[in-house]
Amino acid sequence: MLSACSSPADIHDTRFIMGTLVEFTVVRGEHDDNSVEAAISAAANEMQRIEAAFTIYGEQPNVVKIFNASDVNSPVILPDEVNDLLELSLSIQQQSGGSFNPTLGSPNLLWGFSGADMPSSPPSPDAIQLAMPPAHCIEKQPSTAAEHRWIRKHPNCLLDFGAIAKGYAIDQGIKILKEQGIKHAIINAGGDIRLIGSHGDRAWRIGIRHPRQQSDVIETLNLQGDVSIVTSGDYERFYIYEDKRYHHLLNPKTGWPAEKSQSATIIASSAALADAWSTALFIQGAAGIKLQDNLKQRALLVDSNGKIDGSLD
Ligand code: ADP
Ligand code: MG
Repeated sequence: MLSACSSPADIHDTRFIMGTLVEFTVVRGEHDDNSVEAAISAAANEMQRIEAAFTIYGEQPNVVKIFNASDVNSPVILPDEVNDLLELSLSIQQQSGGSFNPTLGSPNLLWGFSGADMPSSPPSPDAIQLAMPPAHCIEKQPSTAAEHRWIRKHPNCLLDFGAIAKGYAIDQGIKILKEQGIKHAIINAGGDIRLIGSHGDRAWRIGIRHPRQQSDVIETLNLQGDVSIVTSGDYERFYIYEDKRYHHLLNPKTGWPAEKSQSATIIASSAALADAWSTALFIQGAAGIKLQDNLKQRALLVDSNGKIDGSLD
């Protein structure tokens, strides 16, 4: 989890969105309180809209759930927004050698980390095996610019945007704040952050949480301009069963929680990219740092022994 300092010149607001407390911090500047509050509400509403559009949980229907319930090999038309996030997700799946996988809905639902109640013991190996989709289980059919047709190729192929939608929602939230004339702000959704501008005459200060000592930070950064920084870790949604930690970031090759990392942090040009890549890097472990160098993204990894690799400078 990352955190940001605040000062009296800030307007601060929190909303519960996407299963987490989202903190909005806006530098008051020349704005009056009411217009800042209105801008924050508009950003929060947009983020709520995105949560509703992409979640695979709850009773409210959406296109992603319709797709997941569709017959195998029978095309479903996805709207531009879902199509675009899906294409971005599939390109990150490809670039990450399959470490990031947006079609793990079936094993994710089986593990149940995002459901109403946190489970207390893992599913059986057989159940996990039976829930797994093939590595590439979704396909775009000949489409037009206006109509995107997609098929599922396997009954276990269920879309799950859990590792990228929060970042995308933050990007849209920042877009709304900018449209309202706000130039200096942070949206922090439980450690997924995008910040713009600066904090008065200083940079924004962002702390990277220690994955094992809750109140410690492993690094504090001074960031300004337009920066997205996201951490994926095994310390927020997990349980211990028979002395072993089980958490919500699955190795797509096995269907079991990935074992190489405690936390992975990425700085990227958008929160969607930072979100997806922090999940990918978490799965890959320290070996994934090289790819981040190639992508010109700054990366920091705490491996399963607590050893730190990479750098955010
Ligand atoms: P958080 O939601 O805690 O910020 P992430 O952004 O890393 O964490 O997303 C975790 C969610 O992504 C999981 O709850 C699950 O829905 C989904 N997921 C799990 N493993 C993977 C994976 N290897 N690739 C893509 N999505 C995953
Ligand atoms: Mg993520």
